[in-house]
Amino acid sequence: MGRVQLVNAVICSMLTYSFHVYKWPSSLLMEVAKAMRNFIWSGSFDQRKLCTVSWAKICKTKDEGGLSVRDPMKMNQAFLLHLTWQLLTSEEHWAHIGRTRFLHKGLPKAHYITSSVWPGMKKHVTIILEHAIWSVGNGKSINFWSDKWLESPIADQWGIPHTLLQPIRMMVSDCIEERNWIIPEYIWNRDAELAVKILKITLLVDDIPDKLIWKHAMDGNLTHKMAYDFMNGAGPNVSWAKLLWNSYIPPSRAFITWRVLHNKLPTDDNLRKRGCYIVSICCFCRAYFESTHHIMFECPVTFRLWDWLRKGTDQPLDCTNCSTLLLGRGGMGSKMVQQVLNSAIIHLIWAIWIERNQRCFHNKSQHMSSLFNTMLAEVQLSYRLSLANGASAMQDHKISQMFNIP
Ligand SMILES: [Zn+2]
Repeated sequence: MGRVQLVNAVICSMLTYSFHVYKWPSSLLMEVAKAMRNFIWSGSFDQRKLCTVSWAKICKTKDEGGLSVRDPMKMNQAFLLHLTWQLLTSEEHWAHIGRTRFLHKGLPKAHYITSSVWPGMKKHVTIILEHAIWSVGNGKSINFWSDKWLESPIADQWGIPHTLLQPIRMMVSDCIEERNWIIPEYIWNRDAELAVKILKITLLVDDIPDKLIWKHAMDGNLTHKMAYDFMNGAGPNVSWAKLLWNSYIPPSRAFITWRVLHNKLPTDDNLRKRGCYIVSICCFCRAYFESTHHIMFECPVTFRLWDWLRKGTDQPLDCTNCSTLLLGRGGMGSKMVQQVLNSAIIHLIWAIWIERNQRCFHNKSQHMSSLFNTMLAEVQLSYRLSLANGASAMQDHKISQMFNIP
């Protein structure tokens, strides 16, 4: 997990400056993403690992089951979307020049323009106009027919082809006189409902410019974060995220459970799926072939750990799989009980995995009771650092005693 922090803090920050202004070639962005992916899994930019969680999943937020790694391609697009937003809305000098140079009637000019920044912004103008709406000020910047200042452009509501609108330049301000709406007769005749909708828009006394409003923001302004979230697309949240990523469990420990939840530990079953034909045997019981599910939840040797935890805490544990183990208790017990058990589960999964590697690659083994004691010490440390404390209820007594916590 340290590598994930490094990737987010160092590599992404280094790229940010250039991403703000220039569109990077897709091939180069894919190379950067590949190097980031390799570094997260192997610690080297060019060394690939076999059992890895997909890049798309890693780039999702932790609440959505990912690691919140920022995808360079999405970052570049998001920054350019934000720059385009500024081009369309800012009153700064550069934005005025940009609007005159790149836009015609509020849309990108059709002909090629020699510029190092415009190619990155051009396609984002349409995206912004689709997701923004004009707030009427003096009406001088809003095209009456083709701009979105009601729920949809009036030309679309009336089915007028945009090619017919080319020679017409009617602005909203043409329907305003001395801060009052003057709606043409033909609009009343054809669509009285539309005319009423227009009349309902309050006109301000002061002569202030029209403002473009980002529809998905409370204050109407598009920020960098919103632009990234918009480009990344929000997915459904996973129920286990809050149990996994929290202040009382070191991220390196939570990371192993996260891989188990995605079934991406390099156990023999997963290596076989990737084409490694190896002879497989569980290093704990030496009776079954190795799979993540077996070593974590089925193996008669490691199962003793879960049994000791269940009996020691007098709490039900559903060892069907990793998510039922984490979520199966369904919020039973006090906050302290939930946090201690959650911490114990994640530390035990980590301990099993480290022990498996010691046995497989270093020919060293510990007794299960030593692993259990290591877990108890780790949970105790977590508790002292940041777990919920306070007066323990009577039902928590058994847990307090087992983990030797006050
Ligand atoms: Zn086994």
